Amino acid sequence: MRDEDELGRLMEALTGKPEIALGTKRFAGRVDDDDAAEIAEAMQRQLEGGLKAREDLARKKRLRIVCERGCNVCCEELVVVYLPEALAVARWLESAAGADARGWFLEKYPSWRERAGDGIEREADLNAEWERRDEYEKAHKEQWKRRVMCAFNHDGACSIYPVRPMLCREGHAVDSNARCCVDVALIDPPRRLTFGPVDDFLKRANVLLRATHNAMAGKEKASTRVNRAEALCELVYRLLTKPA
Ligand code: SF4
Ligand code: SF4
Repeated sequence: MRDEDELGRLMEALTGKPEIALGTKRFAGRVDDDDAAEIAEAMQRQLEGGLKAREDLARKKRLRIVCERGCNVCCEELVVVYLPEALAVARWLESAAGADARGWFLEKYPSWRERAGDGIEREADLNAEWERRDEYEKAHKEQWKRRVMCAFNHDGACSIYPVRPMLCREGHAVDSNARCCVDVALIDPPRRLTFGPVDDFLKRANVLLRATHNAMAGKEKASTRVNRAEALCELVYRLLTKPA
């Protein structure tokens, strides 16, 4: 396992050449599962600092971020991730702390997969092709309309809360959750608090996560492809059930 300085140098190397995140050049170095999971966790920790600053700003503006345990209709929107965030989830589920959540997930996964249908594959394929962004957005909305609850949602709460992806951490609604459900959200989205530092950080983090994914894609046992982010539940399931 790398120490903090080594991990920092690896992250610099991964983002040093834009072609790696774009998927047009192979990364010459080595990135293993632990490296990737730790990169994801480092990004998630940094994001938490930004989200705390956003909450402080909300308070100053007398706005209320209304997200709380049990409020989870947003978990019907498909969460798509690159390998590092999926590896962080799989690693946690394989630890003692994640044992219950792993059991719940493996029990729920077959019915989630059946309800999710083929749309998740199409969404992943389109997501990997920059020039088909409009088609991707359309496919994402169609998938969301199916209202398939994330298989990590257990009794109304996120069962992988300590390692949940950045998309789940950043998602929020201000003042009311009345517009979070897809039927309303696609017409009149929930009110959000725009906060530049978090938005800028997420763009940079996404580049690093994609570069890390691309450095591992093809070599990794879970059959991932360059630039192809996938549904969180699908990818984590493959990682948990891959042959040793
Ligand atoms: S984004 Fe909306 S549905 Fe999700 S936790 Fe926040 S208020 Fe609830
Ligand atoms: S990972 Fe957790 S927060 Fe994210 S969609 Fe699934 S249940 Fe919701």
